[in-house]
Amino acid sequence: MSHQARGEAETPYFAMPNLPIGVILFGMKLIAQLKLQPTPEQHALLKQTLETANAACNYASAVAWEQQVFGQFALQKLCYKAIRQQFDLGADVVVRVFAKVADAYKLDNQTKRGFKPLAAFPFNERLVSYKLTPQVVSIWTMGGRQKMPFVCGEQQLALLQGLRGECDLVYRKDEFYLFQTCDVEEAPEIEADEFLGIDMGIANIAVDSDTTFHQGKGIKHVRYRHRALREKLQAKHTDSARRKLKRLSGQERRYATNVNHVIAKQIVKTAQDTGRGIALENLKGIRKRVTARRGQRTVLHSWSFGQLRSFMEYKAKRVGVCCKAVDPRNTSRTCPNPDCRHVDKANRKTQDQFLCIRCGRAGHADYFAALEIRRRAEVNPPNVGTSA
Ligand SMILES: [Zn+2]
Repeated sequence: MSHQARGEAETPYFAMPNLPIGVILFGMKLIAQLKLQPTPEQHALLKQTLETANAACNYASAVAWEQQVFGQFALQKLCYKAIRQQFDLGADVVVRVFAKVADAYKLDNQTKRGFKPLAAFPFNERLVSYKLTPQVVSIWTMGGRQKMPFVCGEQQLALLQGLRGECDLVYRKDEFYLFQTCDVEEAPEIEADEFLGIDMGIANIAVDSDTTFHQGKGIKHVRYRHRALREKLQAKHTDSARRKLKRLSGQERRYATNVNHVIAKQIVKTAQDTGRGIALENLKGIRKRVTARRGQRTVLHSWSFGQLRSFMEYKAKRVGVCCKAVDPRNTSRTCPNPDCRHVDKANRKTQDQFLCIRCGRAGHADYFAALEIRRRAEVNPPNVGTSA
């Protein structure tokens, strides 16, 4: 489905196919991931449906490329009939074919786009419907509509009660999933005069201005444990080694996503319980600083601060806690002493240590950065957007 159209350009760290099974977000549209439980016959039908739909996409893509026609409706005009005749797909599915092809060319129309036989395919409410008790999904296939049970977590089930839009039929490791977009109600935002400042970094994933250190030790540990194995596998160049490597990175990513969820939840709860907003640095600043800190790069390389930030933002939105982005420049070099406020690179002695060269105030560098971020949020006028 197309998230580009919703102004999501600020969140490029979400690549749909790489996400673990769980709840992920796009603004305040959340995606519930449901695992289908088809019979072997239904499994074959779903597979055939995906293969046929993607073959139709490739057909439409070839026409689009040849004729340089990339708009959904123009393309539909050109080859709707041919596709209906050639592929045994329902009218609603064929319409989704053009939507998918047009979406692909929207991203890049300088190269001919191709679709893998089992690539995810977008369905809509006319092709998929749900019953929640018992959990049954009814889905269009090449063999007619099929009803089958599905499993999902409680949170996902709650999401399904809300309004629903498009979903993607996804094939992964011989299982079928529906990634269903759901609208989530937001709580009205509570205005805040006081903020909880959050510094995101390496040694500590996040440190807040209340001196809570959210550490990433577990992450280093996981990566460390895997490093030797990873190197061994990389040297092998076999298919099985490649598969194992892929599985490892999947494990690490799921672990990291979970850590981000836990940290975001704690931070939002702290802010909510104390009636404060959350102050964050804007994303560009974080990236810049992260590349500046050498040596830590391998640990950090795969860490998604963008994801952590998104988790904080959407969890905050759901409970009405306001999030504010502040200018990230020199937050880690500014003395927190209100009578001093000296800004100097030399204030930062080491990764952890801050010692003001003018007034001598000393403390943990990440905590001081969080204090500075808090100060900036409390000083600046409210209603500054968070996406910078
Ligand atoms: Zn100072």
